[in-house]
Amino acid sequence: MFFSIFAATLIPLVPDASQTSGFCFCIKRIAKLRFFIKIWNFPLLFPYFCGNINPKNRTIMRLEGRRESTNVEDRRGKKTVAAAGGIGIGGIIIYLIISLMGGDPSAVMEQMQQGASTEYVDDGKDYSQVDAELMTFCKRILAGTEDVWTREFQKMGRTYHAPKMVIYSDAVSSGCGNATSAGGPFYCSADNTVYLDLEFFKSMKRQIGADGDFAYAYVIAHEVGHHVQNELGILGQAHQQMAQYGRNTPKSNEVSVRLELQADFFAGVWAYNDNKMFGSLEDGDIEEALNAAAKIGDDYLQKQAYGRTAPETFNHGTSAQRSRWLKKGLTTGDVSLGDTFSPAYSAL
Ligand SMILES: [Zn+2]
Repeated sequence: MFFSIFAATLIPLVPDASQTSGFCFCIKRIAKLRFFIKIWNFPLLFPYFCGNINPKNRTIMRLEGRRESTNVEDRRGKKTVAAAGGIGIGGIIIYLIISLMGGDPSAVMEQMQQGASTEYVDDGKDYSQVDAELMTFCKRILAGTEDVWTREFQKMGRTYHAPKMVIYSDAVSSGCGNATSAGGPFYCSADNTVYLDLEFFKSMKRQIGADGDFAYAYVIAHEVGHHVQNELGILGQAHQQMAQYGRNTPKSNEVSVRLELQADFFAGVWAYNDNKMFGSLEDGDIEEALNAAAKIGDDYLQKQAYGRTAPETFNHGTSAQRSRWLKKGLTTGDVSLGDTFSPAYSAL
């Protein structure tokens, strides 16, 4: 159901962008656009999530015997449905009408969402043994981020409060609103939680044969990077600025790019330090991550999808910028070098 028309109608239900950060930002935009031009092409959209990773060059991280995080909640099989007060099909139609007329339906949708409640419906499947390896992988990577960031925060004289991670299937109710798998992994600052559907990783493998686990780890570390920003007070300030500039305006997109590049940098800092503490990386992992970052730049993706670019709409950074900041984190491991807000925008 990743990129069906039905999934597209649910796109407006992804959480409030003022509180979320993640791969979902660009997915929302491209998915909405594609809904209206009625072109659904998974291979074209896919690089938005993870880039093209050459399976021949993949390397496997060394994670045997590593600690597993206890901050992971398995919510698979617990589908969420909007109860009375939810948006429903009427809300979706209103959203589409306002969008088509060129307006911003977000405010109306937020009002409609207020008072909405969520019910959990068990889908009856036994998930205990399904994707057990992927669950273990996520728990180990999250534990690695906990260990690294606890130490890095100690160095700064601060205390790190680790985020939670919810593994869900199909749809989930977060502190930032309801979301579906179509939006990709995301971080919600309202409940300090990273939300992830394992189907996302399996799709990476199924669609392009990319089962490089370091690419998966990069996805998790990027979302945790947003939590680090939240812990440091950066995320709240940036979201406030973005709200002042107005959603999806060029100025707001610039702030978004600065946030995303810093999350890439933090992902690199994590990988550097995780490797230093646990020897987790194999030869070729860094190249694999840099290649992935180069394939998820806004310029690369827009060219792939439309044959041209619109720089004022960039909200994650170009391929060159993403590779540069990830590489900076990967090669230095030094948090103090990750200021993406002071430099001129053109110098990022
Ligand atoms: Zn992000």
